[in-house]
Order: sequence, then C-alpha cells, then structure tokens
Amino acid sequence: MNSPLLQVEGLWKTFSRDDGPVLQDVHFEVEEGELFGLVGPSGCGKTTALRIIAGFEHPDAGAIALRGNAIAGDRVHMPPEARGIGFVFQDYALFPHLTVLENVMFGLHRQPKSDALPRAEEVLDMVGLGSLHNRLPSQLSGGQQQRVALARSLAPAPRLILLDEPFSNLDAALLLTTRHEVRNLLKQTGTSAVLVTHDQEEAMTMADRIAVMQDGAIEQTGVPEEVYRRPRTPFVAQFLGATNLISAAADGKHAQSLLGRLCLDRKAQGTVLVSLRPEQVALETPTVQEIVGEVLAREFKGHDQTYRVRVGDMELVIQTPPTSPWRVGDQVALRPVEPAVIVATSQGHAPVEASRNGLFSDKQKARN
Ligand code: ATP
Repeated sequence: MNSPLLQVEGLWKTFSRDDGPVLQDVHFEVEEGELFGLVGPSGCGKTTALRIIAGFEHPDAGAIALRGNAIAGDRVHMPPEARGIGFVFQDYALFPHLTVLENVMFGLHRQPKSDALPRAEEVLDMVGLGSLHNRLPSQLSGGQQQRVALARSLAPAPRLILLDEPFSNLDAALLLTTRHEVRNLLKQTGTSAVLVTHDQEEAMTMADRIAVMQDGAIEQTGVPEEVYRRPRTPFVAQFLGATNLISAAADGKHAQSLLGRLCLDRKAQGTVLVSLRPEQVALETPTVQEIVGEVLAREFKGHDQTYRVRVGDMELVIQTPPTSPWRVGDQVALRPVEPAVIVATSQGHAPVEASRNGLFSDKQKARN
C-alpha cells in the first residue's frame, strides 16, 4: 500500500515552560491530492504545526514523513528548501518592488531563466492573471495578490502546499469566489494542501477532511459532514456551528432528558452530554401530556428561521423552514429528528473510534 503523502506523528512543541506546550501529540495524515483543513481558534497552535511541517521550526518530539521519507524528527531535519513544500502566507509576502511576473519567477530562481519564464507565464495563465504580468502588487486587488502568491508557490510544482489563513485579507465579496478558485486550482493541478484557518465555514467548504484543534491538540479528524454531524467533544460541537448541549441519563441507545426520551447515536450508560444542532430538532404543535417549550424569540432570515425556545430552565436554539408558523409566546413541542450525539460521558471515556487522535484530550477528560 502507498504511504500517505504527508504523515505527521505525535508532534510536541513548547516555546516557553511558563506557557506550557503549544502542540500536544498532534497526529494527522494527508493523502495525495487531498486538501486537508487544520481549523481551530486563534492561538491553538495551527501556524506552529504548519511551520514545523515547512521546516521553519523544530519539533520537541514527533516525526514527519513526506511520501514515506522522514523530513523531521529524531536527529532528522531536512532544510525547508529541500522539502519540496510550497507555503502561502497570510500576508502573501509578495515583493512590492517586483512585478507580478518577477514575483512568480522568484519562486523558480533555481531554474534557468529559459525554463522559468514559460513556467511562470503558464502558472499565471492558470490563476487567471495572464494579462497582468507587468503590474506591481500595489496595483492589484487583494484577491489578485492572493492568486499571485498562490502562483508563486505552485510554479515549482511542489508536492504539498501549506496555506496559512490565505484568505484573511479578502473582503466578503471576494472571499467566496477566491476560495472556490483556489480549491479548483489545487484540484486541477493535483496539488495536496494543508489549509490553516480559524474559520470553520472556510475549513468545511474547502477541505476534503478537517482536523479540529484546541489548546495544541487535535480533538477530531474526519470529513466535514461527519465532524459537523457527529462531533466527539463539546468543543468540536460548539466550534463548528451552533448547537444545543443537553445533559441526559443514558440507558443503552436511549436517554432521559429535559426533552423527554431521546434516541442516542450510540450506546452509553449514566450521565451523558449530548449535542443536538438547531436543524436537528423540529417544532410541532403540542399534544396532551407532552413536554412543551415556550417560544422566546424568532429571527426570520429568508431561507430559514431561528427560534429561541425555553424548556424548563434551558434555552434552546432551533432552526426551521421559513414557513413555520410559530410566534413569540407560542407553546411548542420539540422533536429531535436525528439521534442525539454523545459528546461527553460521566466516565470521561474517549469514544472508541476517537481514541487514536486523542480526541478526548486529558484536559477534556478532566473537564467532563
Ligand atoms: P493564529 O490563528 O492567531 O495565528 P494559531 O492557532 O496559528 O493562531 P500559533 O501561531 O501556532 O497559533 O501560536 C500558538 C501559541 O504559540 C500562541 O500562544 C503563540 O503566542 C505561541 N508562539 C508561536 N510562535 C512562538 C514563538 N516563536 N515564540 C514564543 N511563542 C510562540
């Protein structure tokens, strides 16, 4: 079997003893042609992980291999320029005094000019900047500068590109199209990439798989749909979108909660914390002897509506189609339309399938 393009194994990094580790046992793999998203809040260690993969930092422990060959680890440190990895920085890092073409040629400085020139022109055509060769970066829009930076790192045909918050300087109008274009370009050229972002929507729309990080540790890795729909920790559930976290008493595949009897996504015993996303609960007309909630607020958003509903001492957020009739003050029944997803148990056990990636970090266990 072929090894993955990139294997990152058990990375640890501490900059200062007072602050503690910035990376804790970080593992992930990137397959050939895959776009992998590393997503988490500011300061969780994403850039540090990327800089270690690029070779700009040394890990304290752990190992990295590219196509099965060690590039970092115990007594191994391949210099950055020998790794065949491209890097697109947050600020694009374009040379302001060089033209678009010269900036891209810079990425090819180790090739003879006779080869570098046609290659730079080819890549600029590919990113749709064929007519802007002679402009300076200051004469380009943010989206165009972003594409020059991408062209510069694609020009040497790297095996892997590392993208560090590459869209953070783009305005909302450019953001969606640029994300789409960059994803298409990477797919067209078969280039694998690790995309670092604090924006969960960006990670989910762009990446084939995502890893959600908190406090230097990866809590869950998977395809976006799976991680969004089946979060394995309270943090992952809350970071990827709105959710309702509800305490329940489990007995096998069911649990008793303030919403009544819930179906669970898997078997458990004792106290559990479950996640039900706003779109995973329907509002209905209450029948006799049913637990009801009171509508506290309603936001109409065109394509859907968001309600705040009080049940007992909890407020839940529920998302419904735009046509649902409920108004503030109405009594409603809340009916989960999917099994509730267990994100923590009283034993603090890591869910079976999650244990490899340290999805329940020790910190998380302590919290539960
Ligand atoms: P952001 O999205 O804000 O860039 P991040 O998730 O990429 O955040 P890192 O940049 O990896 O996080 O930083 C993680 C932690 O490590 C932060 O607390 C940061 O201050 C610290 N850190 C990063 N580089 C260094 C360094 N060279 N020396 C000391 N501390 C550092």
